[in-house]
Amino acid sequence: MAPSKICSLSVDLDPLTAYYAIHGLGDPPRPLRFTILRKALPRFEELFAEAGVRATFFVIGHDLEAPEHDEAREVLRRLAAAGHEIGNHTYSHPYDLCRLPEQVVEAEIRRCHDLCVERIGRDATPLGFRAPGYTIDAKVHRVLASRGYRYDSSMFPSPPYWLAKLGVMGMMSLRGRSSASVVSDPRALLGPADPYRPDPERPWRRGQSPLVELPVAVQPYTRLPAIGTLLAVAPEPMRRFVLRTMASRPFFNLELHGIDLADAIADRIPTQLAGRQPDLRVPFHEKRRRFLQTIEDLRRSGYELLTLAETAARVQREGAL
Ligand SMILES: [Zn+2]
Repeated sequence: MAPSKICSLSVDLDPLTAYYAIHGLGDPPRPLRFTILRKALPRFEELFAEAGVRATFFVIGHDLEAPEHDEAREVLRRLAAAGHEIGNHTYSHPYDLCRLPEQVVEAEIRRCHDLCVERIGRDATPLGFRAPGYTIDAKVHRVLASRGYRYDSSMFPSPPYWLAKLGVMGMMSLRGRSSASVVSDPRALLGPADPYRPDPERPWRRGQSPLVELPVAVQPYTRLPAIGTLLAVAPEPMRRFVLRTMASRPFFNLELHGIDLADAIADRIPTQLAGRQPDLRVPFHEKRRRFLQTIEDLRRSGYELLTLAETAARVQREGAL
């Protein structure tokens, strides 16, 4: 009998530059621009090898061009050859993707796609997309559909998350700092939380698109986020509670970030950032231990662990999960 539940693990490889921008801190010191791909990515490679799972890595095209990332490209080649999936996370990670003209959106997606193939290899041809900051619209959807992508995984239908984000952005503007974050269309917050075929004009609603939408996991009822950072740092009873409550959904789209295996002390990340990201103050080996435990817990409760592209193919084949 096929397992009834699917979990897909994905890792958004946002550089620390993105977190400096979210917190309105300007540009990080130069060496920190490479921390995620040089330090955290190999830790994910090792973690997933030990756990025996394949995941989806959402790569930013621009990062593939840096000479400082020679070794990271090698790691990504090994990951792709080992059956991990490489996904498209745009060329330059613009948080305001939806506000850009369609030809700029097209270039952001095309350039990242081409760089994945050129700099990592054919194994790394993206079939799926995740937008920076979880916002897509009809324009982005059109570009993905015209490229024949199999899925989008940008929707994050969590009103509590967006409220918290609005609150933080409001506090920052009171203090005269501006965040790079953009708030999504409120209609997207109440969209489906399980995989669906979107309406191309309103991708937060069900429709007939050939693409599948795989929303980032939110908990049933409360729609609180169920993402990797939470599982890595929440007290143990809360971690177990989130896993239990997610079991009532057919699909657990567990999103992690490169920063989830970064470490303020081991990676010399200044207090300027670490003071605002409490998860950075938890040692990476502790977060790693909790991810391993989570993967083991998921297996024990009957989850099948698939990449997002594999999950999308199943939704396309069977209509739903
Ligand atoms: Zn991102």
